Amino acid sequence: MTSKSAAAAARATVYGYPRQGQNRELKKAVEGYWKGRVDAGELRRTAAELRAAAWRRLAEAGVDEVPTGDFSYYDHVLDTSVMVGAIPARHRAAVEADALDGYFAMARGTQDVAPLEMTKWFDTNYHYLVPELGPDTVFTADSTRQVAEFAEAAALGLTARPVLVGPVTYLLLAKPAPGVTAGFDPLTLLDRLLPVYAEVLADLRAAGAEWVQLDEPALVQDRTPAELNATARAYRELGALTDRPRLLVASYFDRLGAALPVLAKAPVDGLALDFTGPAAANLDDLAAAGGLPGKRLVAGVVDGRNVWINDLTASLKTLATLLGLADRVDVAASCSLLHVPLDATAERDIDPRIARWLAFARQKTAELVTLARGLTKGTGAIAAELAANRADLASRAGSALTHDPAVRARTAAVTDADARRSLPYPDRAAAQRARLGLPLLPTTTIGSFPQTGELRAARAGLRAGRIDTATYERRIEAEIREVISFQEKTGIDVLVHGEPERNDMVQYFAEQLTGYLATRHGWVQSYGTRYVRPPILAGDISRPEPMTLRWTSFAQSLTDRPVKGMLTGPVTMLAWSFVRDDQPLGETARQVALALRDEVDDLATAGSAVIQVDEPALRETLPLRAAGHAAYLAWATEAFRLSTGGAAPDVQIHTHMCYAEFGDILRAIDDLDADVISLEAARSHMQVAGELATAGYPREVGPGVYDIHSPRVPDTAEAAALLRKGLEAIPAERLWVNPDCGLKTRGWPEVRESLEHLVTAAREVRDGLPTTS
Ligand code: GLN
Ligand code: ZN
Repeated sequence: MTSKSAAAAARATVYGYPRQGQNRELKKAVEGYWKGRVDAGELRRTAAELRAAAWRRLAEAGVDEVPTGDFSYYDHVLDTSVMVGAIPARHRAAVEADALDGYFAMARGTQDVAPLEMTKWFDTNYHYLVPELGPDTVFTADSTRQVAEFAEAAALGLTARPVLVGPVTYLLLAKPAPGVTAGFDPLTLLDRLLPVYAEVLADLRAAGAEWVQLDEPALVQDRTPAELNATARAYRELGALTDRPRLLVASYFDRLGAALPVLAKAPVDGLALDFTGPAAANLDDLAAAGGLPGKRLVAGVVDGRNVWINDLTASLKTLATLLGLADRVDVAASCSLLHVPLDATAERDIDPRIARWLAFARQKTAELVTLARGLTKGTGAIAAELAANRADLASRAGSALTHDPAVRARTAAVTDADARRSLPYPDRAAAQRARLGLPLLPTTTIGSFPQTGELRAARAGLRAGRIDTATYERRIEAEIREVISFQEKTGIDVLVHGEPERNDMVQYFAEQLTGYLATRHGWVQSYGTRYVRPPILAGDISRPEPMTLRWTSFAQSLTDRPVKGMLTGPVTMLAWSFVRDDQPLGETARQVALALRDEVDDLATAGSAVIQVDEPALRETLPLRAAGHAAYLAWATEAFRLSTGGAAPDVQIHTHMCYAEFGDILRAIDDLDADVISLEAARSHMQVAGELATAGYPREVGPGVYDIHSPRVPDTAEAAALLRKGLEAIPAERLWVNPDCGLKTRGWPEVRESLEHLVTAAREVRDGLPTTS
């Protein structure tokens, strides 16, 4: 079977590929360079080799058009700042002295200058460096790197398409530079920025680029009419350039919504759209906008952010529909493959019956090629691939791992009452006060204590079989002893065991839950040279045995003071894993919540009077568009309450959140119904305490008074001043004293001193409180 438009050969293409190399060679080279072990020439050679290897791999797999410019030594948004000459004044000297060192100074700071701020790239776990702009910013074009990488690919005989962060997204991701009024809107710089993009485009054209891709993911967020007008203006101007390559404007992570007709009408040559998950709505929106007559459509039909094989038959159906809407349809992943690991075939430890459900960057590439072939030559040409795909999908759907009847029965039986504590907060508070007998302004910490080199070595030794379990456990016990005795000596009121047995908390719980898979090589870039290996939540979740009881009980046996049980909440367990795509997230969250509920129950039965369920990621997985917020927050808060709802009234449930900007989830924080919440607040001078108070938050709050993201030791006066600030918003009966977050990234000397200051500050402020009878 042939369809006429399909006959115009569809191409398979990607927007970006994992940068690190099979053995994270990039990380090693960059960190080696920082340490002076690798010189600049060697670093550049390694980078060029990694790029060439990735392009070759793509080309060999059958990708028709490879991306260039997606590679980065650190971050592609930082690269864009360099490309447009947006170097903050404080970094200029370093950049002038040496471009590469200056680049890393912007990324990481130096002794003398602070780095650019870092924040999350949309709702992924990748972090970018925030451009700093102001009314005085002067843009200048530097296309060197883009041109050089395009030339590298061309020299290998490959058809390449340079990928740039688009001008509108670049400005929307920027923030006012230090010293610039907060009201400054970087988008007002658009007219200054466009000529710089024009220059870069002309340079790429001169180098031989036929197409250039401009990524505009910021347009999938809710945008004001003014922002949409700016978008129209930007692409009217770039489209009108005479000396330019053909322009492909790409969006991903969600539907374009109101921005779709704006881009469809713009005088550009093609659009790349996401058709996966909620972004599938782009299909109807595109039809409603009249399609893309005369233009190229790059269809993101393979999810670029998850690790699961594609449903090829379903994708072909989408592609067939799209053929009627554009002049030419090509096949792509929904977004850059940067967000998935490199190669699933490297996972030798995963049961081969399960590994066949997995598609990392390499496997996704093969899917794209198959789809492009099917689209061009008809399904007959890919019959074998389709049959294998159907069998793999069927094996996943019918597997006992993805369908555990006991887990299913349990989630189905959940009632509203399960997600509610048995008594309202005031009654619980009374019961807890009676049981715990804590002073006003009680002190505590967020959970982890410093992860020393010795602890890491012990863990590595256990994994490698150099030490046995008993030796390892003695080592952990010794650490817990030290942590407990330090806290007692310092006079902290609610103790923690210090989490020495956890490297990464999500990984720690994932390893103990049935339904989760661990990978050996599944690295994804989080930021710069930091890579994480998220566990894969593959099946129905259950808890074969208690996960934390042993260490919490051991810690409690050492002291008369309460030791907080310490768990990671259901939303965070999902946010920092690869989650399944074959059921609603809310259902997956419920399964995890029920497993945690059993842990809460075991801890409480063993005598824990205080249990903390961390949800640092609650805010970060908030959907990109406001329309999705209510539904997300409903299942997210329900899952938290389900995990804690079974606790008796006199068990005090704590939760913890960090990464600021709580403003738009204050209602959800209240909905958690936790008895105590600790929050990051030191850097924002307790702002969140005021916000919670204004929102009428009725329960106990511990806004952090010690900024743990810095090695700085706050003195007593500083901590006391923050506490007094907190007291302006939250009454002493409901205010806790704690650091911003866990202490695992800090060193012991600074932690010791800081916590002593924190306790002294709490005593001082407590003693100054008006006495009540
Ligand atoms: N309990 C965890 C810790 O202290 C919390 C981590 C987090 O908030 N990111 O490390
Ligand atoms: Zn935290």
